[in-house]
Amino acid sequence: MHELGLIRNVLERALEIAEAHGSLPVESVHLRVGDYQNIVPELFSFAFEAARVDTLAADATLTWESVPLKVQCDNCKTLYMPESLIWNCLTCASNAATLVEGNELVLDHVVLQEPETAVADTQGASVWKSR
Ligand SMILES: [Zn+2]
Repeated sequence: MHELGLIRNVLERALEIAEAHGSLPVESVHLRVGDYQNIVPELFSFAFEAARVDTLAADATLTWESVPLKVQCDNCKTLYMPESLIWNCLTCASNAATLVEGNELVLDHVVLQEPETAVADTQGASVWKSR
């Protein structure tokens, strides 16, 4: 299952962030997923539920934002968003193009649960940007 490998990678990164912040439990994991990844949402959620067991993210929720494909024509360098699986340049109709966006699968941020003893920052959970 393609989704499980992808999830393991991002979950590992999320857990590193949690550990770096005093091993706070992870409340939610937020990703950006390019459409080129062909993620099946049900499998993705299922893979996450399987991978998070017995980790700091055991109760975490997963959300993701899809990133549409953007390609650049190899011939005339026009940037366009293909409307189908067949890429056809809007300017010169060439179907040779290079993917420039939409292949990513990145951890956008994780939300960690605040420790109950925290005095400062009672505005809710902190958001840690991963990059
Ligand atoms: Zn073109």
